[in-house]
Amino acid sequence: MGDIKVAVTGAAGRMGREVVRAVIEAEGLELVAAIDRGCIGTDAGELVGCGNAGVAVESNLDEALSRTKPDVMVDFTLPEGLMGNLRTALGHGTAPVVGTTGLNPADFAELEQLSASTSTPVFIAPNFAIGAVLMMRFAAAAAKYMPDVEIIELHHDKKLDSPSGTALLTAQRIGEARRAAGVSPTPVPAGRIEKAVGALGARAENTGDVPVHSVRLQGFVAHQEVIFGGPGQALTIRHDSIDRKSFMPGVVLAARKVRGLTGLVIGLEKVMD
Ligand code: NAP
Repeated sequence: MGDIKVAVTGAAGRMGREVVRAVIEAEGLELVAAIDRGCIGTDAGELVGCGNAGVAVESNLDEALSRTKPDVMVDFTLPEGLMGNLRTALGHGTAPVVGTTGLNPADFAELEQLSASTSTPVFIAPNFAIGAVLMMRFAAAAAKYMPDVEIIELHHDKKLDSPSGTALLTAQRIGEARRAAGVSPTPVPAGRIEKAVGALGARAENTGDVPVHSVRLQGFVAHQEVIFGGPGQALTIRHDSIDRKSFMPGVVLAARKVRGLTGLVIGLEKVMD
């Protein structure tokens, strides 16, 4: 079997450059197209310091897919153009691996339908860091035995949303695990939670009964602690993304596995086992 042919959209962006490098370096993957709005005509390998890859960055996705016929398209662009890219890819029978965030339920419904009508799988992961997926899995396992838990998530000061999507998903997984095990957290007595002016978002309200504290400071990339407390003991599960490289093993894994999936599949854990 030959290499899996990969196109990268958003190839000149922060994540896209990492993806281009990861695809060039990964065994069994071949970079065949690099699409972006900037750096047109520059060799994608040269752009990321890997030497000449023989793949110039170009802007017309439809033309690039017609010419290079990739098996997979890895997309790290921006939400506004994402659905257009995905419709184009599916029209060519190219399976998308999506890292771009910001899709809504109507988009997911359309993708499910398009995936079925084109018989082409679509894979989406809100977090491609394998360590973050393991953190959520370990947290869900611990919640059965230690239901009292809080989350602290720490991100760079440019991150606009809080709590992070990963914190929300972790809280959801913990809630599901507690319900499945029939355990509940110790109720917090009324009035015990201090409310300080200006501390908005310090304790998020949309995370079920798992308190989430959001820190936004220079010096951080993406970090999360899930802290469990029980009589006489505490357990901390912590994940740190200190570089965008942390997402690449997950991206490469998804690019290798997506053609074997059916329909729309969401979440890195679905391709990890
Ligand atoms: P970025 O540096 O702004 O890169 C995006 C690149 O895509 C830019 O070069 C942009 O060009 C280009 N672009 C935008 N629309 C395009 C289109 N329709 N066709 C082709 N190229 C297009 O952003 P980033 O930091 O790499 O992040 C990209 C996305 O990944 C964001 O949605 C972010 O939230 C997400 N993300 C996901 C994960 C995960 O694990 N799933 C991790 C990190 C980031 P211009 O410069 O002209 O706009």
